[in-house]
Amino acid sequence: MIDSHSHIYGSRFDNDREAVIQRAIERGIHQLLQVACNLPECRQVIELAERVPGIYASLGVHPHDADTVNDQVLDQIEALLTHEKVVAWGEIGLDFYYDNSPRAIQQDAFERQLARAINNAMPVVIHTRDAEPETLEIMRRNPNPRGGHVHCFTGSLDMAKALLDLGYDIGFTGIITFKSAASLREVVAMVPLERLLIETDSPYLAPIPYRGKRNEPAYVAEVAAAVAEIKGVTVDQVHEQTNQNFYRVYDKAGLTWETLAAVAT
Ligand SMILES: [Zn+2]
Ligand SMILES: [Zn+2]
Repeated sequence: MIDSHSHIYGSRFDNDREAVIQRAIERGIHQLLQVACNLPECRQVIELAERVPGIYASLGVHPHDADTVNDQVLDQIEALLTHEKVVAWGEIGLDFYYDNSPRAIQQDAFERQLARAINNAMPVVIHTRDAEPETLEIMRRNPNPRGGHVHCFTGSLDMAKALLDLGYDIGFTGIITFKSAASLREVVAMVPLERLLIETDSPYLAPIPYRGKRNEPAYVAEVAAAVAEIKGVTVDQVHEQTNQNFYRVYDKAGLTWETLAAVAT
């Protein structure tokens, strides 16, 4: 299986990153997509991907850091896209829950990055929270033929349907294991297994029974098990189909997907 979205390049994993990767391998995880949230993290993600087989990179500026976006930053990200292990642009989007950057600046940064990704024929990784109409408006104005992954989905059934109609796949995290997430489980039930991705968003959002602890890629197995239960299919079916979905969304010409290995990090 694949953890299609996590952040183990960050300092919270500096003391035990190799052990974290080893535990992921032991749970049967083949690949990790590491997603940057600002320009310095883009470089960190690439460094990690260069050292570890099976780790791939997505580069972009998160809505929290939207005020760092300017032409020079976008030019630098664009120049890094040619790296062989970079497979997407993101995470980008809108977060009106935390509002860490002013909304107008978030909207501008999102739209500029989406347009750049489209120009470069890249799929995108989208983060959206408490900003459904504004997110959809920008996505509809900038249709991406490559589509992408709307990650850590926690929105409404209607939002999920609209995103599927726009050609995007939808990612779910350990939140779907939380007792309070009954309405989100209805969304999981609705999203076709052929359009669904599993992810941890480590170090955040550890699934039950690890809730409240630092999350890690091995726990994507709990997310897969929850999806299997909600959909009434086997865990193997979830693994097989979500792997295929991942390779379709993040397809890159000439790329051979290597398997995760616990080299010294
Ligand atoms: Zn996010
Ligand atoms: Zn993330």
